[in-house]
Amino acid sequence: MRKKLLAANWKMYKTPEETGVFFAHFLPLIADHDRDEIVVCPPFIDLHTAIAAATGSKVAIGAQNMHWENEGAFTGEISPLMLVAIGAMHVIIGHSERRQYFNETDDTVNRKLEIALESGLTPIVCVGEVLEEREAGLTEDVLRRQCMRAFNGISARKAAKLVIAYEPVWAIGTGKTATPEMAADSHSVIRHEASKAFGDEFGRKLRILYGGSVKPENASALMSESEIDGALVGGASLDPASFAKIVKY
Ligand code: PEP
Repeated sequence: MRKKLLAANWKMYKTPEETGVFFAHFLPLIADHDRDEIVVCPPFIDLHTAIAAATGSKVAIGAQNMHWENEGAFTGEISPLMLVAIGAMHVIIGHSERRQYFNETDDTVNRKLEIALESGLTPIVCVGEVLEEREAGLTEDVLRRQCMRAFNGISARKAAKLVIAYEPVWAIGTGKTATPEMAADSHSVIRHEASKAFGDEFGRKLRILYGGSVKPENASALMSESEIDGALVGGASLDPASFAKIVKY
């Protein structure tokens, strides 16, 4: 059995003060919840507040991005070394918004994945097709290509902590959700690609999250699909009551 992981991606929302308010409301709501792993990924500026608030709770804190070097002349960037130093445990890599607006490529995803694993962070690597690709019947090809390039040159031993998030781009922030069956089909393609790269046992153990307009109303149907090992939640994770309902689907 793979333990499910429910991860919040706050995107560019909340100040440190608002982060404190979120945790003050959220932590009591999930205090008795042991079934799943819970991760919150706030903006960099809120990490310190979030880590302080979540210490001693069941919630781990992650970042939404990072650079592929530990240090250097990269103005405005944050490194894996820095994330580890402040107690971040997870990092989202290759979110479609980063691919779309910030020139993230399969190659930078690969470089970031490699150093995240070396640093001991748990990487949550996002893959997913855009609407035109789905309509053209290219979903499988896109997922295979994104996985193959992300995994390039990485050994199974090193990849042990890897988590993948399948996020169909047409479902992110749009209110449109993939059906549990559509998600399961894509997850099978991803699992197959991971098995090819890292071996069958790795493939069986790999956690693949679904992301794309997950809400309290649809979380239970999605999470009851055996191929879906958790969720990456954007908009609906900003409100503590809403994210707590998703966690407790
Ligand atoms: C996301 O940001 O990863 C995401 C899935 O967003 P939303 O839940 O708002 O669609």
